[in-house]
Amino acid sequence: MQTLIQSVLTLQHNRLQTVDVLLDDEQIHTIAPAGTLSPLPQQQVISGQDKLLLPGFVNGHTHSSQVWQRGLIPQLPLELWLANVFDSTPQQVEQFYWGAVSTAVDTLLSGGTCLMDHAYLIPGQERETIDALVRGYQDVGIRAVIAPLIQDLPFTAGLPSGCLLPQSSSPRSASQWLDLMEILIAEFHDPDCGIYIGLGPTGFHRCSDELLQGCAELSDRHQLCYHTHLLETRAQHQLAQERYGISAVEHLYQLGCLGSRTSLAHGVWIDDTDIELLASTGATLVHNPVSNLRLGSGLAPVLKGLQAGLNISFGCDGAASNDAQNLLEVIKLGTILHTVSDPDYKNWLTPEQALQMATVGGAKGVNLSDRTGSLTPGMDADLVLYNLNHPSLLPRTNPLQLLVLGRPTEVVESVWVKGKPIVKQGQMMTIDIHTLHNALRHHAVEISLFSPQHRAVESHYHQVMLH
Ligand SMILES: [Zn+2]
Repeated sequence: MQTLIQSVLTLQHNRLQTVDVLLDDEQIHTIAPAGTLSPLPQQQVISGQDKLLLPGFVNGHTHSSQVWQRGLIPQLPLELWLANVFDSTPQQVEQFYWGAVSTAVDTLLSGGTCLMDHAYLIPGQERETIDALVRGYQDVGIRAVIAPLIQDLPFTAGLPSGCLLPQSSSPRSASQWLDLMEILIAEFHDPDCGIYIGLGPTGFHRCSDELLQGCAELSDRHQLCYHTHLLETRAQHQLAQERYGISAVEHLYQLGCLGSRTSLAHGVWIDDTDIELLASTGATLVHNPVSNLRLGSGLAPVLKGLQAGLNISFGCDGAASNDAQNLLEVIKLGTILHTVSDPDYKNWLTPEQALQMATVGGAKGVNLSDRTGSLTPGMDADLVLYNLNHPSLLPRTNPLQLLVLGRPTEVVESVWVKGKPIVKQGQMMTIDIHTLHNALRHHAVEISLFSPQHRAVESHYHQVMLH
């Protein structure tokens, strides 16, 4: 099946140009000057008049099950917020399915075609959880990397001086987790269907060296993405000093966990030496500006990272710390936020740079830059067509600038993933959106404020972080 998109505005070599784009089955076949590709009888022809075509964005970090917790948890620093998240995480396989569907739909309708789900697991039903996520992503038709969130240290170990607190037991040992990961990779990693398994140790703060290293070994052996949280908060920075006496980045480097398949969420508290080291390994930093502000974590050194040659992408983070999953909102905030960190306006992010980070940068971060993230012949057709006639994209000034810096709403007209149309005229083609809304309406999670785990650690947190 061939699709010809005629005379459409695109970003080519960092310049806006009008071109004809031919899609052939799963891939981008030809990009030619506007008006030079004549339609053939068997081709589907789409007018690109008043449209903008971009590669799909990659949501580099999210937790899909947190859809159930959006608008649920008060504004708290990460460590206390997380206690409430754990105490209200859904426990039904069906909720994980709908969490994946909802996250995928919100991603597609805000310009994304691929996401990294750093996925929570139902204890004792880990296989069933991943199965539900895979079904959700396949039913919608989005490209998804699922990195099960695993840890072998108790919750309290992730706090500075956390060893002083009563320790809850952790569900599995490092070797048990690694055995389970082998099973999940064998059963669910399926690149032909756009489903990829990644290794997702929660973060150094709640993982033993054995687990961090074992995941790196599996990532090397199976050539899979290695995804983990890194120095999101001041508390984690303090904990790294306490536990290792060196920076967490240096420690991960010594363990052999940093490489071109590694993506690290947040990095708010990395310093200049960490930035140089990360850049030298080819790792990716995923910037989650909405979540970092929601939780008071701080500003990631994005401008410094880019200047050092570090690959940086964008993430929504889970909906419990974002309360939405809108990539355009994240990209806007992540673009304008850093003006306050550097008075030299020549270093500020441009909309073109931001789109580069969201597409090429995002694809590299999920280890898929050979398949997605750019509008180039031979790449998979993961594309988004924006309606430039929508009032939120008027008047016709610079459409890229308005898409990134404005407040575009309902501007995604069509989306293709691996050449398959998933969104047409702004409507989902693959699933019934009303069924999704009904599911969200009728299953809910609840929380007692504040949760038991919150109450157990709050005075300790206050003591070690605020005194
Ligand atoms: Zn996260």
